[in-house]
Amino acid sequence: MTDAVSRYLRIEVPEEHPEERVADFREVLHSYTREEAMLEAQRCLQCALPFCVEACPITQDCRGYIGLVATGQFDEAARLTLRENPLATTLCKVCYHYCEDACIMKGRGVPIAIRHLKRAALEFGNSNLEYVPSAPRHQRVAVIGAGPAGIMAAWELCLRGYAVTVFEKQRAVGGQAGAIPHYRMPNHELLIDLQRFRNMDLTFVEGRAGGVDFTPESLLKEGYRAVFVSIGASKAGFPGVPGEHLPQVIPALDFLYDVNQVRSVILGRKIVVVGGGDVAVDAVRTARRLAPSAEVTMAYRRTRGESPAGEEEIRETEPERVDFRWLLSPLEILGKERVEGMVFQRMELGQPDASGRRAVRPIDGATVTIECDTVIMAVGEKADLTGFSPQLGLKIGNKGWPEGTHPDTMTEVEGVFAAGGRSVVHAMAAGTKAAEGIDAYLCRKEGRTPGPRPDPFGEGHVVPKAPEGYSGPVWKP
Ligand SMILES: Cc1cc2nc3c(=O)[nH]c(=O)nc-3n(C[C@H](O)[C@H](O)[C@H](O)COP(=O)(O)OP(=O)(O)OC[C@H]3O[C@@H](n4cnc5c(N)ncnc54)[C@H](O)[C@@H]3O)c2cc1C
Ligand code: SF4
Ligand code: SF4
Repeated sequence: MTDAVSRYLRIEVPEEHPEERVADFREVLHSYTREEAMLEAQRCLQCALPFCVEACPITQDCRGYIGLVATGQFDEAARLTLRENPLATTLCKVCYHYCEDACIMKGRGVPIAIRHLKRAALEFGNSNLEYVPSAPRHQRVAVIGAGPAGIMAAWELCLRGYAVTVFEKQRAVGGQAGAIPHYRMPNHELLIDLQRFRNMDLTFVEGRAGGVDFTPESLLKEGYRAVFVSIGASKAGFPGVPGEHLPQVIPALDFLYDVNQVRSVILGRKIVVVGGGDVAVDAVRTARRLAPSAEVTMAYRRTRGESPAGEEEIRETEPERVDFRWLLSPLEILGKERVEGMVFQRMELGQPDASGRRAVRPIDGATVTIECDTVIMAVGEKADLTGFSPQLGLKIGNKGWPEGTHPDTMTEVEGVFAAGGRSVVHAMAAGTKAAEGIDAYLCRKEGRTPGPRPDPFGEGHVVPKAPEGYSGPVWKP
């Protein structure tokens, strides 16, 4: 591996064979061995200006942990990772690795496998650590919604000494991360992450819904000093076509939650998933695994290149016997009592719009009918604001989550904040922003000056340094 060419090649991530992996929900991607991880990490140039770190929504010091992995310092790499990333065990399996898209090695071959190296750091290093909260402030803050945004905000606030109660309407924490199929995240990774929170003044109250059992305003009256609304996007979207009320038309989010919670789902022999995002891809891959002999189709109104799903997810799905149908927009679901088929409008690409994305337009008179008995709808979800007062002025973000109206995420009601995000790590970044806003707000009220996040391991401010014994990449540029 030390020749001049191999620096540009990634150490391959071991993967289950497509024919075998669709037989069940086994994990598709495996971990590196220690040696493979070290070799892959040694490809990193340890850039003086690390674009990878800049591109990470939570500015994870990935350059730092890669350097440590390169020299076999796995314990130190795990600690560095967990110092700023409390959901690292989850993210090392599911993050869409924005860092890798920005990695300088992408332009010179294949980017460093930054997410897989995070996984190696946590698997080979000691990741069974515990976070240490600051001295208690005796001030309570409430969080509504236990998804990644709410959990991250809770972590940030607990580290600053606040007592946090997280109210969750479901009987499980994790939010949409709990719908991610087991072939990508098999081992309750989120619960492993939450084990490290065990010393914090953090309480989860499950089965209590904002807007039903309480409101943000009622929590303030109860004595919570601030409230963070992080209810994500849990209400299924529908395209508004005839027939979508039929019982065999299933919202993708419900379908994926049910499968993960081992609740029964009924699928037919010809399944069509409508949508082109990551949720649609997960729905189609899950349907493939549950119904091995069924015809499984995914229909999307744009092309593969325009699809919002990640390239990695589509590439992994292609060999799994899924029929991708691009440029088809739903028109009607056929059938009186049962789904019998679905009619689509054929689309074509038009000129790029203001964002540079090419618009799609219908081709006059061109329709396609696909015979099917089950339709899974994955056309977007949005926040369910039922029971939340309009006085809050909650806005809905472009992927459906609620947002505050002020730059610090505060809503129109003083002390109530709101945010969420389009991926786990974006939601975490939103949680951090809200927690900083809440801390600054409460400090303002008391005449205190807000400080930076205290060290999560109670070790004071640690200045990252180049790992001992590491003198740069094995391969010289
Ligand atoms: C199938 C699927 C696969 C995905 N795969 C990935 C992936 O691989 N990588 C990635 O980075 N992202 C992925 N995502 C996206 C990611 O999960 C979300 O972006 C992220 O979870 C959003 O976090 P959040 O905290 O803003 O909201 P959510 O995760 O939606 O959490 C909101 C929480 O609030 C609760 N809630 C809602 N209303 C109320 C109420 N009234 N009262 C109390 N609680 C309430 C909900 O039950 C939920 O637990 C996926 C999403 C789905 C659906
Ligand atoms: S959290 Fe995601 S984007 Fe950030 S460094 Fe890790 S893999 Fe990259
Ligand atoms: S080579 Fe890539 S991963 Fe390494 S520091 Fe540079 S940008 Fe980051």
